[in-house]
Amino acid sequence: MDLLDTLTDKGLRRELPTREEALAVLATTDDELLDVVAAAGRVRRQWFGRRVKLNYLVNLKSGLCPEDCSYCSQRLGSKAEILKYTWLKPDQAAEAAAAGVAGGAKRVCLVASGRGPTDRDIDRVADTIAAIKGADEQVEVCACLGLLSDNQAERLKAAGADAYNHNLNTSESTYGDITTTHTYADRVDTVAKAHGAGLSACSGLIAGMGESDEDLVDVVFALRELDPDSVPVNFLIPFEGTPLAEEWNLTPQRCLRILAMVRFVCPDIEVRIAGGREVHLRSMQPLGLHIANSIFLGDYLTSEGQAGQADLDMIKDAGFEVEGAEQTTLPRHRATASAGGCGGGASVCGSSDSACDGDSGCGGHKDASACGPCGGPSTEEGSEDEARTDLVRVRRRGAGTELAPNA
Ligand code: SF4
Repeated sequence: MDLLDTLTDKGLRRELPTREEALAVLATTDDELLDVVAAAGRVRRQWFGRRVKLNYLVNLKSGLCPEDCSYCSQRLGSKAEILKYTWLKPDQAAEAAAAGVAGGAKRVCLVASGRGPTDRDIDRVADTIAAIKGADEQVEVCACLGLLSDNQAERLKAAGADAYNHNLNTSESTYGDITTTHTYADRVDTVAKAHGAGLSACSGLIAGMGESDEDLVDVVFALRELDPDSVPVNFLIPFEGTPLAEEWNLTPQRCLRILAMVRFVCPDIEVRIAGGREVHLRSMQPLGLHIANSIFLGDYLTSEGQAGQADLDMIKDAGFEVEGAEQTTLPRHRATASAGGCGGGASVCGSSDSACDGDSGCGGHKDASACGPCGGPSTEEGSEDEARTDLVRVRRRGAGTELAPNA
């Protein structure tokens, strides 16, 4: 298939595909799906080998948010029956983080609900980082605290944070449809602040919110322009009690196409399968590992993932290996640029194009049968997917509870 040969060649050269090529990936048929995965897999192995980076979420403050992000179970007015608690103490957070590290995670993601941190909140997170790094100085710490004010990124960097996550989530043109209490520009500004302070920028998206293919391509190209080191790809978990509870419109095949498109646009960037992995990829999760080089271990912010041991078994069974603390995640050319505090831009991507790339859930998250051998349209999105509400489990263990974390 010419398209896939072209995209593979470009990915191996770290060259930006065209928008049309990115859109064409999303439009491939189910008959072509394994070829798409294989092509994206070649690019993934070129830059990341068979390594899988494990990240571990610690929700420092859950629920009670004044913002109205419609995809989020912690939003203003959410009726989702999630855990609600205010700031964990540093030793509590460090204990949860240690469980993830013991399970194989090399990065801990410290997340707090809210519009953005106060200076007092930065102090709390600094104490938490000190507690985590005091136990194991090799652990990477990423903070995800919302919109940053001036100098807060610098303070986090000084406290030992390695990275900052703030997702763009969706395209600029549809951002106002999912959130009214802050803007797309606010989010771009925070990613720039993180970059400017020398933090490794992590910024991603949420698929499945009713967006078009064009929106998905827009946000992924926008992310690449922000030049993050990691891009989490969330698949919407339509929580009961949130405005998007009925948005069950992803299939495992659609998720794989989206991951492949992100990989082709961001060939040498850490692509992470984030929230919604178990709910939407389901038994196709191992194929996702051929495209993405990073996942979250265990549970998410407000929902439960599969058992941590099941994550580890899946990685091993699929022929991949957990990335060790002594291994560098990014390819040498990007790792060097990050270590040097390069603000990014096209200089590190080697592309002749000007654009260069970029929850979890502060960030966050149909099958149809093929029509047969005709090669014509087969399974396409938009067809009815079963609402797999049975797979959505509100988190009841780990941080903020008396029960052991899942790691
Ligand atoms: S995504 Fe973050 S800012 Fe938005 S409602 Fe959820 S916790 Fe609040």
